[in-house]
Amino acid sequence: MAEGKRSLNFIEQIIEEDINSNYKRESLKFRFPPEPNGYLHIGHASSICLNFGLGERYSAPVNLRFDDTNPTKEEQEYVDAIKKDILWLGFKWAEECYASDYFQQLYDWALEMIKRGEAYVDSQTSEEIAEQKGTPTQPGTESPYRNRAVEENLDIFEKMKNGETPERGHVLRAKIDMASPNMLMRDPVMYRGLHKNHHRTGDSWKIYPMYDWAHGQSDFIEHVSHSFCTLEFLPHRELYNWFIEKVSKPDDFKPKQREFARRNLSHTIVSKRKLLQLVEKGFVDSWDDPRMPTISGLRRRGYTPDSIRKFADSIGVGKRENIIDVAHLEFCAREDLNKVAPRAMAVLDPVKLIITNYPDDKEEWLEAENNPEDESAGSRQVPFSRELYIEQEDFKESANRKFFRLTLGKEVRLKNAYIIKGEDVVKDQDGNITEIHCTYDPKSKSGSGTEESMRKVKGTLHWVSVKHAVEAEVRLYDRLFTEEEPDGDKERDYLDFVNPDSLKVVTGYLEPSLKDAQILDKVQFQRIGYFCVDKDSTPENPVFNRTVSLRDSWAKKKN
Ligand code: ATP
Ligand code: MG
Repeated sequence: MAEGKRSLNFIEQIIEEDINSNYKRESLKFRFPPEPNGYLHIGHASSICLNFGLGERYSAPVNLRFDDTNPTKEEQEYVDAIKKDILWLGFKWAEECYASDYFQQLYDWALEMIKRGEAYVDSQTSEEIAEQKGTPTQPGTESPYRNRAVEENLDIFEKMKNGETPERGHVLRAKIDMASPNMLMRDPVMYRGLHKNHHRTGDSWKIYPMYDWAHGQSDFIEHVSHSFCTLEFLPHRELYNWFIEKVSKPDDFKPKQREFARRNLSHTIVSKRKLLQLVEKGFVDSWDDPRMPTISGLRRRGYTPDSIRKFADSIGVGKRENIIDVAHLEFCAREDLNKVAPRAMAVLDPVKLIITNYPDDKEEWLEAENNPEDESAGSRQVPFSRELYIEQEDFKESANRKFFRLTLGKEVRLKNAYIIKGEDVVKDQDGNITEIHCTYDPKSKSGSGTEESMRKVKGTLHWVSVKHAVEAEVRLYDRLFTEEEPDGDKERDYLDFVNPDSLKVVTGYLEPSLKDAQILDKVQFQRIGYFCVDKDSTPENPVFNRTVSLRDSWAKKKN
């Protein structure tokens, strides 16, 4: 990899500084901490590549930690999907950890804090608590319960834990500073009552820790050295450090939170909550619908792990949020698929081409290179016969000199086959062309070495022999949203911008070598785009997804 050559990003600089001062290289440890409340998306891929990439660079362990502190939204299905996606991207975690494994430890620490007078049970409603928060320029008001006796705090907190108090009756708050300029330090909530079953701890707990009271502590328990999170957590850093200080001794090894910018992708959304809406409201079929920016959707669409990793690495980590053009992701897919996807011919919008001077009963199997970018990919045989399908758009009865495809009286080459000349058309009552008649030059066979085969013609068309064609359902996907930033408009809902034409299904006619393609196999339909066998595919009803067209059709057309 060209990895070694690039300069250090700011995250790596932080680590280098740390190992040159008070950290030992051996003590480096990272984590990727998803909440199992949905499937991972392309934004998570950035965080995965960052954390696991650092692990590779510094030979340091990286934990997969499920931040499972909110049982109302979390499910085992999501845990399984997240693990599958990370492995598919090619990364391995050191340990599989769960914040829920630390519930007891967190509870014990909370008891100690109550005993030291650093936490108290507040019995006000959440609205009352919110009203007392103050504003960034005005200090908050202290809760009337702030100085509750330790014994009473311990008593109610235990009842909360056992579910003996109403769900919303009380919360446990850290006693910090209601006048702090950092609003998050104004006695933040540590626990709330929630009488919900947890996907791992069942009904053991009737209280659940808040993110701030679980995340840093989990990092501390696991000896994570650097805890990287997205920028919105910058103001949480002070609280992160405050909590760690409360649960640790001065000599303990303490994790360090640092922030990087969230990555957004144009023409889509990267938020599990909003993606869930698309699934639940039926705009897409599932989390792994090939239009989804989820890792599972991209996989099903035909993206390779390499293309996603290259995408994440090429955009790198930043300090400021921005929107990456989805065209860049598509570019990464093309670049990788160009190398790995074998070529084949498929016609998606057919018209019949009849070679009038080619014998009716003749059939030839012509040699075709599998991948001009990769000699080791070898070649295959493609059947040729008198009746072929070509694309409707590859023919015009008459056209100007710039049209390098088939017209009457002009020659073009049929890829891997012969040079043909347009002779005539047959039309139906409405004037639609039903057949194109042409003649071929028998001496012009590709690769035959004859003078005729070397003759230069302006265009080369792909084709499929009618009697050998394999019919397939071809799903032509397009961008899921028409707007560049669908959730950027405060007035309108992102769901208003769903592209109504994000999926078009056509019947394609494929060369027979594709009959045995397996689910997830990649292929380039020559002159059209990259495709991938969908999981709905069966030998009787093959289904292909368009991963990406050969060229960016959304870029401004030049002429
Ligand atoms: P979502 O809103 O989609 O649920 P999240 O940040 O709440 O996103 P988590 O499961 O908490 O999702 O994220 C796990 C890790 O991935 C966190 O460290 C988070 O900061 C990071 N992450 C999530 N979205 C992005 C993104 N768009 N770009 C970079 N990192 C991201
Ligand atoms: Mg979240």
